[in-house]
Amino acid sequence: MIPAAPTSLLRERLQALGFDDVRVAAVGPGPLAPLRAWLEAGQHADMHWMERTADRRLDPTLVLPGARSIILLGVNYWSEALRRPQPASGPAPLWARYALHADYHDTIKPGLVAAGRVLEELAGVTAADYRYYVDTGPVLERSWAARAGLGFTGKNAMLISRRHGNWLFLAAILTRVELAPDAPVRTRHRQQDVGLLCGRCTRCLDACPTAAFAAPGVVDARRCVSYQTIENKGVIPRALRAGIGARIYGCDVCLEVCPWNRFAQAGRQLLLSARYDVAALSLAEILALTPERFAEVFRRTPIKRLKLAGLLRNACIVAGNSGDRTLLPALVALATAAALPLVRAHAVWAVFRLGGGAALQDAARSETDPVVRAEYEAEARAGG
Ligand code: SF4
Ligand code: SF4
Repeated sequence: MIPAAPTSLLRERLQALGFDDVRVAAVGPGPLAPLRAWLEAGQHADMHWMERTADRRLDPTLVLPGARSIILLGVNYWSEALRRPQPASGPAPLWARYALHADYHDTIKPGLVAAGRVLEELAGVTAADYRYYVDTGPVLERSWAARAGLGFTGKNAMLISRRHGNWLFLAAILTRVELAPDAPVRTRHRQQDVGLLCGRCTRCLDACPTAAFAAPGVVDARRCVSYQTIENKGVIPRALRAGIGARIYGCDVCLEVCPWNRFAQAGRQLLLSARYDVAALSLAEILALTPERFAEVFRRTPIKRLKLAGLLRNACIVAGNSGDRTLLPALVALATAAALPLVRAHAVWAVFRLGGGAALQDAARSETDPVVRAEYEAEARAGG
């Protein structure tokens, strides 16, 4: 039997490590996120690991037998500097604000290691009695965080904290230690009620540029700009490209319109490392990136996982939406000479969007890749 540990002292010690909010949920039955319905509707797109880990996500004792508590840790990444990141010149690509930091998996992990040591000290346990995760484990952090009262689940499907708004990285420590649980935001409601404190507001649902909400609190990843620009490794559907607008990596629209953010305070950033320099890159600079320059600029950022081809794909869409014909030479070069068909295909789309299709007549005749040919054929059907 593992002894109970004092939750208040634990909270104090973990906050001192840099976690801006620390709350506890008791492991037990109860409604969590409607994960199964979401998976059955195919709204997870090709994120098949969600299916493979569904049982473990729904039952933490399958991840850590004997688990009694989940410690939810919030790291606030909001700062005034993130209000309007703009490049010095040229069209401004927009980045999800979280991405303008060194990879949070790397910077938060040392805090989790230290948090584990604190738990060992206060509860007299060993490293075998807990597991920690930041975003990549089979733990429904947002749902448990709502249960622990760290915030509530908004109609935008995000956790909304009254202190930090939407701008939180969430980490979790699953442990066999019994800790006094915190209450959800409103105990008279079921903690999983979507939009508990949204009232009649529907701003996030109305503002979504690609109509990705299947229902309040339910995002169809197949239509979501975040999924398409980050998780999708292939061709982005033509029907969604205009809605992507200037968003080159991720999408903050349903977060930034949320009125709860007006209460958000800047975070202490003890477990983060800002990379606002990324937001200073112009679209022209991104379209001209070489593999070496990509590796140099995006090293240790979450964006590096997209790889150069994924970033160029997204940059082509942003360029096509920009109306800036000074980008045409760079786009024509990518459409005709980029090694990867994925990049050529999106460059072709962008060139036609900017009215430069005549420059690709020869390339269209000689293109043999089916993915790129499909773009030319779609343009021909559209009379481009
Ligand atoms: S992240 Fe963007 S595209 Fe996705 S649901 Fe929110 S507003 Fe819509
Ligand atoms: S924008 Fe409005 S509806 Fe959407 S999560 Fe925020 S409060 Fe709720």
